[in-house]
Amino acid sequence: MNLSLSYMIDTFVKLAQIPSPSGNTNQVISWVTEELSKSGVHVERTNKGALLATISGRNNDKHRLLTAHVDTLGAMVKEIKSNGRLKLSMVGGYAWNAIEGEHCQIETATGRIYTGTILTSKASVHVYRDSGKAERTEDLMEVRLDEKVTDAQEVKALGISVGDFVSFDPRTTVTESGFVKSRHLDDKASVAILLGIMKAVQEDKLELPYTTHFLISNNEEIGYGGNSSIPSATVEYLAVDMGAIGTGQTTDEYCVSICAKDSSGPYHYGFRKKLVALADENGLNYQVDIYPYYGSDASAALRAGYDIVHGLIGPGVDASHSHERTHSSAFDNTAKLVMAYILSDELVV
Ligand SMILES: [Zn+2]
Repeated sequence: MNLSLSYMIDTFVKLAQIPSPSGNTNQVISWVTEELSKSGVHVERTNKGALLATISGRNNDKHRLLTAHVDTLGAMVKEIKSNGRLKLSMVGGYAWNAIEGEHCQIETATGRIYTGTILTSKASVHVYRDSGKAERTEDLMEVRLDEKVTDAQEVKALGISVGDFVSFDPRTTVTESGFVKSRHLDDKASVAILLGIMKAVQEDKLELPYTTHFLISNNEEIGYGGNSSIPSATVEYLAVDMGAIGTGQTTDEYCVSICAKDSSGPYHYGFRKKLVALADENGLNYQVDIYPYYGSDASAALRAGYDIVHGLIGPGVDASHSHERTHSSAFDNTAKLVMAYILSDELVV
């Protein structure tokens, strides 16, 4: 089977380099559209800017849908300060210290790109005694632009305005030991996996038992990704999104994580048991976990009122929404479980 691990990791690296904070995802969606056109997959762009790719199956009365989100955390210019620094407003949820020291890009409304660094306003230890202790808040964090500016007027003259999108340098590194270190593994790793799956299905001319949709959603980090544009024949909905690692979790950076429950409540029990059975049958490295502070495209679809069976799996990602890391093994195990699922003949209900 042409399910290529190197294609998926290379694709992740490319996706990570395209800025795509929630609310500003046209560029990355266009890139994914182009990539899918190479595989000859039929795609449609939704009004909200997501991408719905469809591969026909033997049974066209009942459909399956898988999703992964291509939007990421980011920020917006909240205010141009009188000293020429930029105050930020978060896009998505994270801790301010997770972006301290990060290089960033500011995109103006006309498409100009400026660079800067995210720092506290008390960054120098030679000047501020409490530099390290001050609580990292929206008020303390600021962007130092790489431009000769000293006041707000000079910043505005560059074309920078309140509402401009700010994206973070992903600092993507693939190590010889197989680790993938990067921001936005959540959830571009899973987007890369779904692209790898679609490529393999097309190249190997695999016949899917059911017509299967792949929704590349673009508003997950702000809560409502994947909650619309679900074709009416859809009966099963599988979100492919990162597995959460931390104290008390069994998920690690090598496995595919199968989510039993998150903040939204339990995922469909029968679907979860099916995913576990498929992982067992295929000898995959998997863990079942509960994610304490988490929601997904699938839970968003349930809240929107869809009558579907919902599940959630994904590669284990360490330090999520911070300096994330996973391993090629997690890509591999997740892709194999997704492939086993879309080829499975039985529906959950
Ligand atoms: Zn995610």
